[in-house]
Amino acid sequence: MQRQRQRDTMPELALRSVLHRDGLRYRVHYPLLGVRRRADIAFPRLRVAVFCDGCFWHGCPEHGTWPKQNAAWWRQKIEANKARDEDTNARLKDAGWRVVRIWAHEDPVEAANRVAAEVSRRRA
Ligand SMILES: [Zn+2]
Repeated sequence: MQRQRQRDTMPELALRSVLHRDGLRYRVHYPLLGVRRRADIAFPRLRVAVFCDGCFWHGCPEHGTWPKQNAAWWRQKIEANKARDEDTNARLKDAGWRVVRIWAHEDPVEAANRVAAEVSRRRA
């Protein structure tokens, strides 16, 4: 069984390398105080948190699949992850953070552009 939030997945590494190439400096696996969760990528001073969500585990509307074996168990599991993501978003928002969620299937360059846009909005 896979762990739910894997560290350093391929899409995450690809995104990080594009951000780095664009001159952005960030922290990885950054512990978010009060939320008891870690951002995959964070810009703590600007309060921008980035999460790379796996299509399967986070129920991507395009590629999420619902296994037929143990269907109820999987549905409950994936729905719980989605609820947790929403909860994380809400808590971070309350704490003054901006949240960027990236799907694992997204093009790393486009994903990096979304992150960079949020970062420069914060800098402005
Ligand atoms: Zn997807």
